[in-house]
Amino acid sequence: MFVSKDDFKFNAAHFMAYPGFRERLHGHNYRVSVRVRGALGEDGYVVDFGDIKKATRSICSELNERTIIPMKSDCVEVKRRDGQIGMLCEDGSRFSVPESDCALLPIVHSSAEEMAAYICARILDSLDAVHRRKVAFIEVAVAEAPYQEARYSTELGR
Ligand code: ZN
Repeated sequence: MFVSKDDFKFNAAHFMAYPGFRERLHGHNYRVSVRVRGALGEDGYVVDFGDIKKATRSICSELNERTIIPMKSDCVEVKRRDGQIGMLCEDGSRFSVPESDCALLPIVHSSAEEMAAYICARILDSLDAVHRRKVAFIEVAVAEAPYQEARYSTELGR
């Protein structure tokens, strides 16, 4: 199965940071697509397209018009205080963004690669037990620009 919809998208701000390097804050119009392989169930489905669409749209809306905060960063110190998210970078730069404008993600870098892995895990979490059991392979692609995307895939032991 392959699902790619016009509304599988979000606009978000981010900057890549790793020790010794930081990008300037900038944004992308991200697009998401999902590929699933698995056993056909008695209901005629591997996974209901509707379930994949619902999960993906909901994650996209959580990320839309947010600043992506990589909570596990090894070089950006992230602090929550008085409804603000503060980020202190290695080079001494500071950012402060209202928490409601942020998406706090359990990732080290806000790369398309790590965001694809995060979205993949969230989609799997959203599937009910029956459908999750039938998924043998799932791949999530996150494009930050046309023809520039990262794909994360995982094989699930069954
Ligand atoms: Zn970028």
